[in-house]
Amino acid sequence: MNYLSGKANRLTPYVAGIQPREAGWIKLNTNENPYPPSPAVTKAIGEVSSAKLKLYPDTLGGPLRKALAEHFGLGEEYIFCGNGSDEVIALCYQAFFSGESNVLTPDISYGFYPVWAELYDVELTKIPLRDDYSLVAADYQGGNGVVLANPNAPTGTALTLPEIEQLAQRNPNGVVLVDEAYIDFAGVDSAVSLITKYPNLLVVRTFSKSHSLAGLRVGYAIGDPALIEGLRRCKDAFNSYPLDQLAQAGAAAAIQDVAYWEETRRQIIQTRDQTTERLRALGYPVIESHANFLFVKAPDAKGMYEHLLKNKILARYWDKPRLSEFLRITIGTDAEMEALIQCVSQF
Ligand SMILES: *Cc1c(COP(=O)(O)O)cnc(C)c1O
Repeated sequence: MNYLSGKANRLTPYVAGIQPREAGWIKLNTNENPYPPSPAVTKAIGEVSSAKLKLYPDTLGGPLRKALAEHFGLGEEYIFCGNGSDEVIALCYQAFFSGESNVLTPDISYGFYPVWAELYDVELTKIPLRDDYSLVAADYQGGNGVVLANPNAPTGTALTLPEIEQLAQRNPNGVVLVDEAYIDFAGVDSAVSLITKYPNLLVVRTFSKSHSLAGLRVGYAIGDPALIEGLRRCKDAFNSYPLDQLAQAGAAAAIQDVAYWEETRRQIIQTRDQTTERLRALGYPVIESHANFLFVKAPDAKGMYEHLLKNKILARYWDKPRLSEFLRITIGTDAEMEALIQCVSQF
C-alpha cells in the first residue's frame, strides 16, 4: 500500500550538495563562507537567557527585524524574516504565484525554483540564458511574475540596477522576486533601493553566504508592506514562529557588525579574482563571477569532479543539459584554493 498523496508521489525534491560527516574535506560544493561568523554572533547567542528560551519567540523576528530595518533605512513593515531564504522563497510562491501560469524564470538558475513550482502548482515559463550563459533582462516581459537570482547561480553573472528596474517595469502584473543570495560579492547595486518605487518588487536575502551563518538558517525579504503582509498571512497559516530566539539574536548581531562583514567579503572577492586568473592560466574558461563561486568549463567536467573527489575536494557537478561541461566551485580560503589549483593541475 502506498500511503503518500498523489502530489507527494509526483514530487521531484531538490537535491542539496553533500555534507560529509567526517573531517578532512575541502568543501567547495555548497557556497558556504570559509570564514567563521562575526564573534559578536556567538556572543549574542550565548547571552540569550533561559528565561527567554522558555518562551515562544517574537513571531516576526523581533530584534532581527528591527536591526534589518535600521540597516536598510526602511520601516519594519518592509521586512519579513524566515527560516532561511529557502523558506522565505517558498512562502513567496504561496503568497504570489500559487496557481498562476507564465511566471518567468531562467532555464539555468537556482535548482529549487522549479521544485517549489511543482509543490505550489505554479506554471513556470523558462527563459533560456543566451549561448554565453548571460541573462538578458529584456527577455523577461509580460509575466505574471518573475523569479530569478541576481547574481545568478550557478553561472555567477549579474544584472545592473537599471536592468532590474526594467524587470519591475515590464512585468507590472506580477511580483518580481529578486533572490540576492550573492549580492554582497557582486560589485553591482542591490535592488533594495528600488523597493519604495515599485510595489511589485521583492528582494530576498540570506545570512547563509556573506554572513557565514548557513547553520543558523536565517533569510529575509524586503518589499512593499502589502507584499510583506501577504507573506505574513501565509507564514501564520503554516508556522507562526519560524525563527527561534537564538537565530533572532545571532542574525541581529551579524547585520550590526558591518566592519567584519566588509573584511570577509573583501577577502573572498580577492581570492575569487585570483583563482579565476589561475584557472584561466591552466586553460579552463571561467565566466567572470559576481558571487562566491566560479562556474568553470572543463572538457571532462565529470572526470575533473571525480578527480577532485578522490583528493577530498568537493565541488558541484550536474549531469544535465547545458551544465554537464561545467563545475561550480565555491571560493574558500587562500590555502583551500591553493590545494584546488594543485589538484586541478595534476588532472
Ligand atoms: C544558497 C541559496 C539560497 C538559500 O539560502 P538559505 O538562506 O540558506 O536557505 C537561496 N537562493 C540561492 C540562489 C542560493 O544560492
